[in-house]
Amino acid sequence: MQYKIEEVKARQVLDSRGNPTVEAEVKTKNAIGIAIAPSGASKGKEEALELRDGNKEFHGKGVMKAIKNIEKIIAPAIVGMDVREQEKIDKKMVEIDATKNKSLLGANACIAVSIAVCRCASMVLKKEPYEYLGESDLLPIPFMNVINGGVHAGNDLAIQEHMIAPIKANSFAEALRKACETYYTLKELIKKKFGKNAINVGDEGGFAPPLSKTEDALEIIMEAIEENGYEKEIYLALDCAASSFYKNGYYDLHKKMDAGELMDYYIELAKTYPVISIEDAFHEEDWENFAELTKKIGGKVQIVGDDLFVTNPKRLRKGIKNNACNALLLKPNQIGTLSEAIEVANLCFKNGYAVMVSHRSGDTCDDFIADLCVALKAGQIKAGAPCRGERTAKYNRLLRIEEKIKKPLYAGKQWNKRGIS
Ligand code: PGA
Ligand code: ZN
Repeated sequence: MQYKIEEVKARQVLDSRGNPTVEAEVKTKNAIGIAIAPSGASKGKEEALELRDGNKEFHGKGVMKAIKNIEKIIAPAIVGMDVREQEKIDKKMVEIDATKNKSLLGANACIAVSIAVCRCASMVLKKEPYEYLGESDLLPIPFMNVINGGVHAGNDLAIQEHMIAPIKANSFAEALRKACETYYTLKELIKKKFGKNAINVGDEGGFAPPLSKTEDALEIIMEAIEENGYEKEIYLALDCAASSFYKNGYYDLHKKMDAGELMDYYIELAKTYPVISIEDAFHEEDWENFAELTKKIGGKVQIVGDDLFVTNPKRLRKGIKNNACNALLLKPNQIGTLSEAIEVANLCFKNGYAVMVSHRSGDTCDDFIADLCVALKAGQIKAGAPCRGERTAKYNRLLRIEEKIKKPLYAGKQWNKRGIS
């Protein structure tokens, strides 16, 4: 039977920070699917658990326990199953794990197997993963983190990600080109202002200049945009990852602020700069202030929940009920299986929430999220700057997908639904 899973293997490989991570292989008679789990640095507290060995090797970061779980527990359970039965296979892992946060098997073990199953099935059916997962012609807007801060960089910027979003373009390829040109100019500007030591890049390929104020980061990005003549085409976005600068009831930005002051600060930023999307504006349990910000500026700015929702249907339902945001950041490894991630995305679409598919700060050249983003018609992807192999892997995959689709549509053309004209 050509659809029967015959073998499941796993090995320990490295991610972009040099930390061990899980690679899984799922084989049928004639096909093989391979996938690697990514890994976050600014994780949400409620994320599914990334299982690490905690012993001397790799300073505790080894993933041999997760590898053993794949070989000794998951493999015997799914060998013999039909590789096309993604949901059934994912459910099986969820049932075997039987914990709230995949702490028995490890979300790193589960997501690698789950995506490898999808890849293998699409290969058996002679389809590309994006075709196998859904009929779509929509290429996403890349949200590109060009100045890194927070826990992703060695500078004093509290806000983690300062992104550019090339909205106005006729194709994904054109959008990517405009973003790259802006990135090159940004590099020159940073070099001129801060010297050559300042053009080293952070974890997601963005620069990490010695700045401490958000405004200064946005100013220099705007300068790069304007120098290229893209001020009506490229907009800005932020991932504050506010849990990382929340301490004892206060937000420690370049100065201490309470939630109300921070709210006003964001509103002012969105007035001064063409900011179209703000992620994790408050700490991950501050549902009320998320809702307040959405009420105040959600009509024209996308308010995204990442650490807030952790790609978890229960937390998303709570957010929908409270009008906490109007968008969700989709990271499949936060929940642990592909089927559960797709379920979360569908719950978003049903409730008028936008979905931005995302990489992790520790990532690899696995480009699956590009296919997933197209298949879901999410229209937005966050995969870092156009720099570092693990970041460009996703953008390069999207270039190939755009070429394969008969009549590709670039999602930037639909952005005006969210109020940008
Ligand atoms: P992480 O950061 O992958 O380090 O968690 C990405 C994000 O916060 O969006
Ligand atoms: Zn985030």
